[in-house]
Amino acid sequence: MLSMGCVFCRIIAGELPSRKVYEDEGFVAFHDIRPKAPVHVLVVPKEHVEKLSDYPDTEEGERKLGALFRTANRVARVLGLEGYRVQVNVGEKGGQEVFHVHVHVMGGWG
Ligand code: ADP
Repeated sequence: MLSMGCVFCRIIAGELPSRKVYEDEGFVAFHDIRPKAPVHVLVVPKEHVEKLSDYPDTEEGERKLGALFRTANRVARVLGLEGYRVQVNVGEKGGQEVFHVHVHVMGGWG
């Protein structure tokens, strides 16, 4: 389910532009508009889940979390990053500003 009040859902729906680097059935990855590294992409599930901690503590939740991080590795490989940082901000107090789960993949130094 997409949520049209959500910036990332609107990117997924093609209503807002993005510099896409990867897409499959369940995920999309695009360049962050305010990069904090030479390469900074966001890996985003197409399913609208607000934050990482909303994934249930069940096998289904585990599967979705695994798929999210597997995709982050895949995107880093597509981008040719040898080393990279992966960050997820969870909740307002964790610095999250966009409430649609996303993994920051940052690299390209040196
Ligand atoms: P923070 O801004 O503290 O990193 P988040 O973890 O919620 O908080 O990250 C949201 C990220 O989404 C930010 O890095 C921001 O630059 C990026 N962003 C916001 N709007 C867009 C957009 N339309 N296209 C690409 N990136 C976006």
